[in-house]
Amino acid sequence: MKKAIVVGCGSYMDSGYGCPGEWRCLKAGAMGDGKFEEPTQVVGFVKCECPGRSAAPNVGMTIKLSEIKPDAIYLSSCMVGAKPDCPYSTPEEKAKYIEEKTGIPVILGTHDYK
Ligand code: SF4
Repeated sequence: MKKAIVVGCGSYMDSGYGCPGEWRCLKAGAMGDGKFEEPTQVVGFVKCECPGRSAAPNVGMTIKLSEIKPDAIYLSSCMVGAKPDCPYSTPEEKAKYIEEKTGIPVILGTHDYK
């Protein structure tokens, strides 16, 4: 089974709008829904913190400490589709930065659940 790490927007998660960290990203991975092409084991869930500098190092540390190299890293749908937008960087910029730091492909979005 493929393995993945999900990165969520900590600002959104802390707002408590029925957000991630609860079930949507995890269900999408388990079921192979949304951006997951097949059932996928989510082996890490990393919380981005403003202004976003820690996200890539924390993903790297998750990989190192878990000793599991994921097949892909997913930026959560809350992070990619946030309104208002993240004031610090675009999802594409975050994805590029994390890809460069880890060498692992980054996918924009996780699920389509409401
Ligand atoms: S930097 Fe942007 S994506 Fe990261 S927690 Fe802050 S608002 Fe969310």
